[in-house]
Amino acid sequence: MTEFNPFLKSWKKGLKRVAIVYPNRYVGGVSSLAVQRLYYEINSSEDFIAERFFTDVFEGLRSVESGSELKSFDVALFTLQYEEDYFNAVQIIKKSNFSGVKIAGGPCVTENPKPIAKFFDGLFIGEADNLVLDIVEGKLELYPKNKRRFLWRELPEHQKMQVIGEGAYGRALHIEVGRGCPRSCRFCIVRQLYAPARWRKVEEIVEIARENRKIVDKIALISPSPSDHPKFEEIISELYSLGYQISPSSLRADKISEEVLKILVKSGLKSLTFAPETSERLREVIKKDISNEEIIVAAKLAKEAGIEKVKLYFMIGLPGEKLEDLEEIVSLVERIRSMNLKVAVSVNPLVPKPHTPFQWLPYGGEIGKDVKENIKSLEEKAKFLEKMRKFAEVSVESVRKFAIQTVLSRGDERVSRLIELKPNFNLIFKLKLDKFLEAFEVDEELPWDDLSIGYKKERLKREYEKVLADISA
Ligand code: SF4
Repeated sequence: MTEFNPFLKSWKKGLKRVAIVYPNRYVGGVSSLAVQRLYYEINSSEDFIAERFFTDVFEGLRSVESGSELKSFDVALFTLQYEEDYFNAVQIIKKSNFSGVKIAGGPCVTENPKPIAKFFDGLFIGEADNLVLDIVEGKLELYPKNKRRFLWRELPEHQKMQVIGEGAYGRALHIEVGRGCPRSCRFCIVRQLYAPARWRKVEEIVEIARENRKIVDKIALISPSPSDHPKFEEIISELYSLGYQISPSSLRADKISEEVLKILVKSGLKSLTFAPETSERLREVIKKDISNEEIIVAAKLAKEAGIEKVKLYFMIGLPGEKLEDLEEIVSLVERIRSMNLKVAVSVNPLVPKPHTPFQWLPYGGEIGKDVKENIKSLEEKAKFLEKMRKFAEVSVESVRKFAIQTVLSRGDERVSRLIELKPNFNLIFKLKLDKFLEAFEVDEELPWDDLSIGYKKERLKREYEKVLADISA
């Protein structure tokens, strides 16, 4: 593995060793702003040395930097980006015989710490940034004692340099252009966990890009919705004039101007990603305010600007979903394909996420149906959409795999028994965890209700009731 690492440090007597464990592959870890920040903050301190662990490097049991065993470290910080990583994290803890202090953080932990809590000495809820050393030094009260989300009213200053390796965007510099999202799609957890939306100043972005230009020629713009940055066009034209290839993490179809596309294509972009999610009718229910026409216009503009491929994300299992919604998805994809664009389609079952107005929905979205019926119906929908394979590249996520994700996301302490074993669909039923795939009663206490994230549950309830009214109208 060849990486540019400006923070590499050698151990010397007196330094406390901190392991940063990303329980997934290197390619994701080196693109993770959280891993980058932890590494930078800890190695910038005179008292500590940090080394990183990934599942595809020595199975996560020895560090990338020096090959040191995890058990020789004093503190291990786990970054949990995806619920599926819980299994890897717990296996790494077990196999390594690590006996130091174990702390976990990341979006999954902030969403619902209950399923994972018993494996760690403390959990950090929220945004760490400038608090990393306080966490390592044990100066902060962590979950379960502290149930409040840490957040920064203003985005903390971005680190000036970072490790550059072969990551999800290739060999790229990653800049967080914004955090949170100004929109309010009802299924989306980002709008709650990272609220309020905060944008980084153009000057700061350009300055970091300028300082790193000699080291790297690709730049990834990271944010839940980078093109919503009020000065997105200015940012990409500045970065283009510095000679960067630019990769935004995603783009909004209604935010694409000819000018933006021209710059992105000139800077090397070949494919675009949009997330229409569903039919136009259901987009209103989920509050994703983009019309089919806007998506078609954006695809046309993309084609004219020289884009070769469009990636489209859809969901199944939404409340009120009918066959005609799926048919509309197929015809939208066909229309885009007919523009002579290559089309890649990704279909995911909806996980009704905590802290969203959809948190009370059952997995599968059909209230009144039991778990097995909902799963059967999701599998039929997935099969229906697979017929797009005739004219597009289609990947449909496994309904069973997402059922496991739903249980990990919505469960309580009992789910830790599953995490100790393996990600197996049938175990959900054997361990009697299928209740977390069912609809929740609006007045029942939910496993994540004790967290203080910064919104009022009443507001979610009102939105949920509105959804129920809309789909029965
Ligand atoms: S789905 Fe995307 S646009 Fe909608 S709230 Fe979430 S991040 Fe924002």
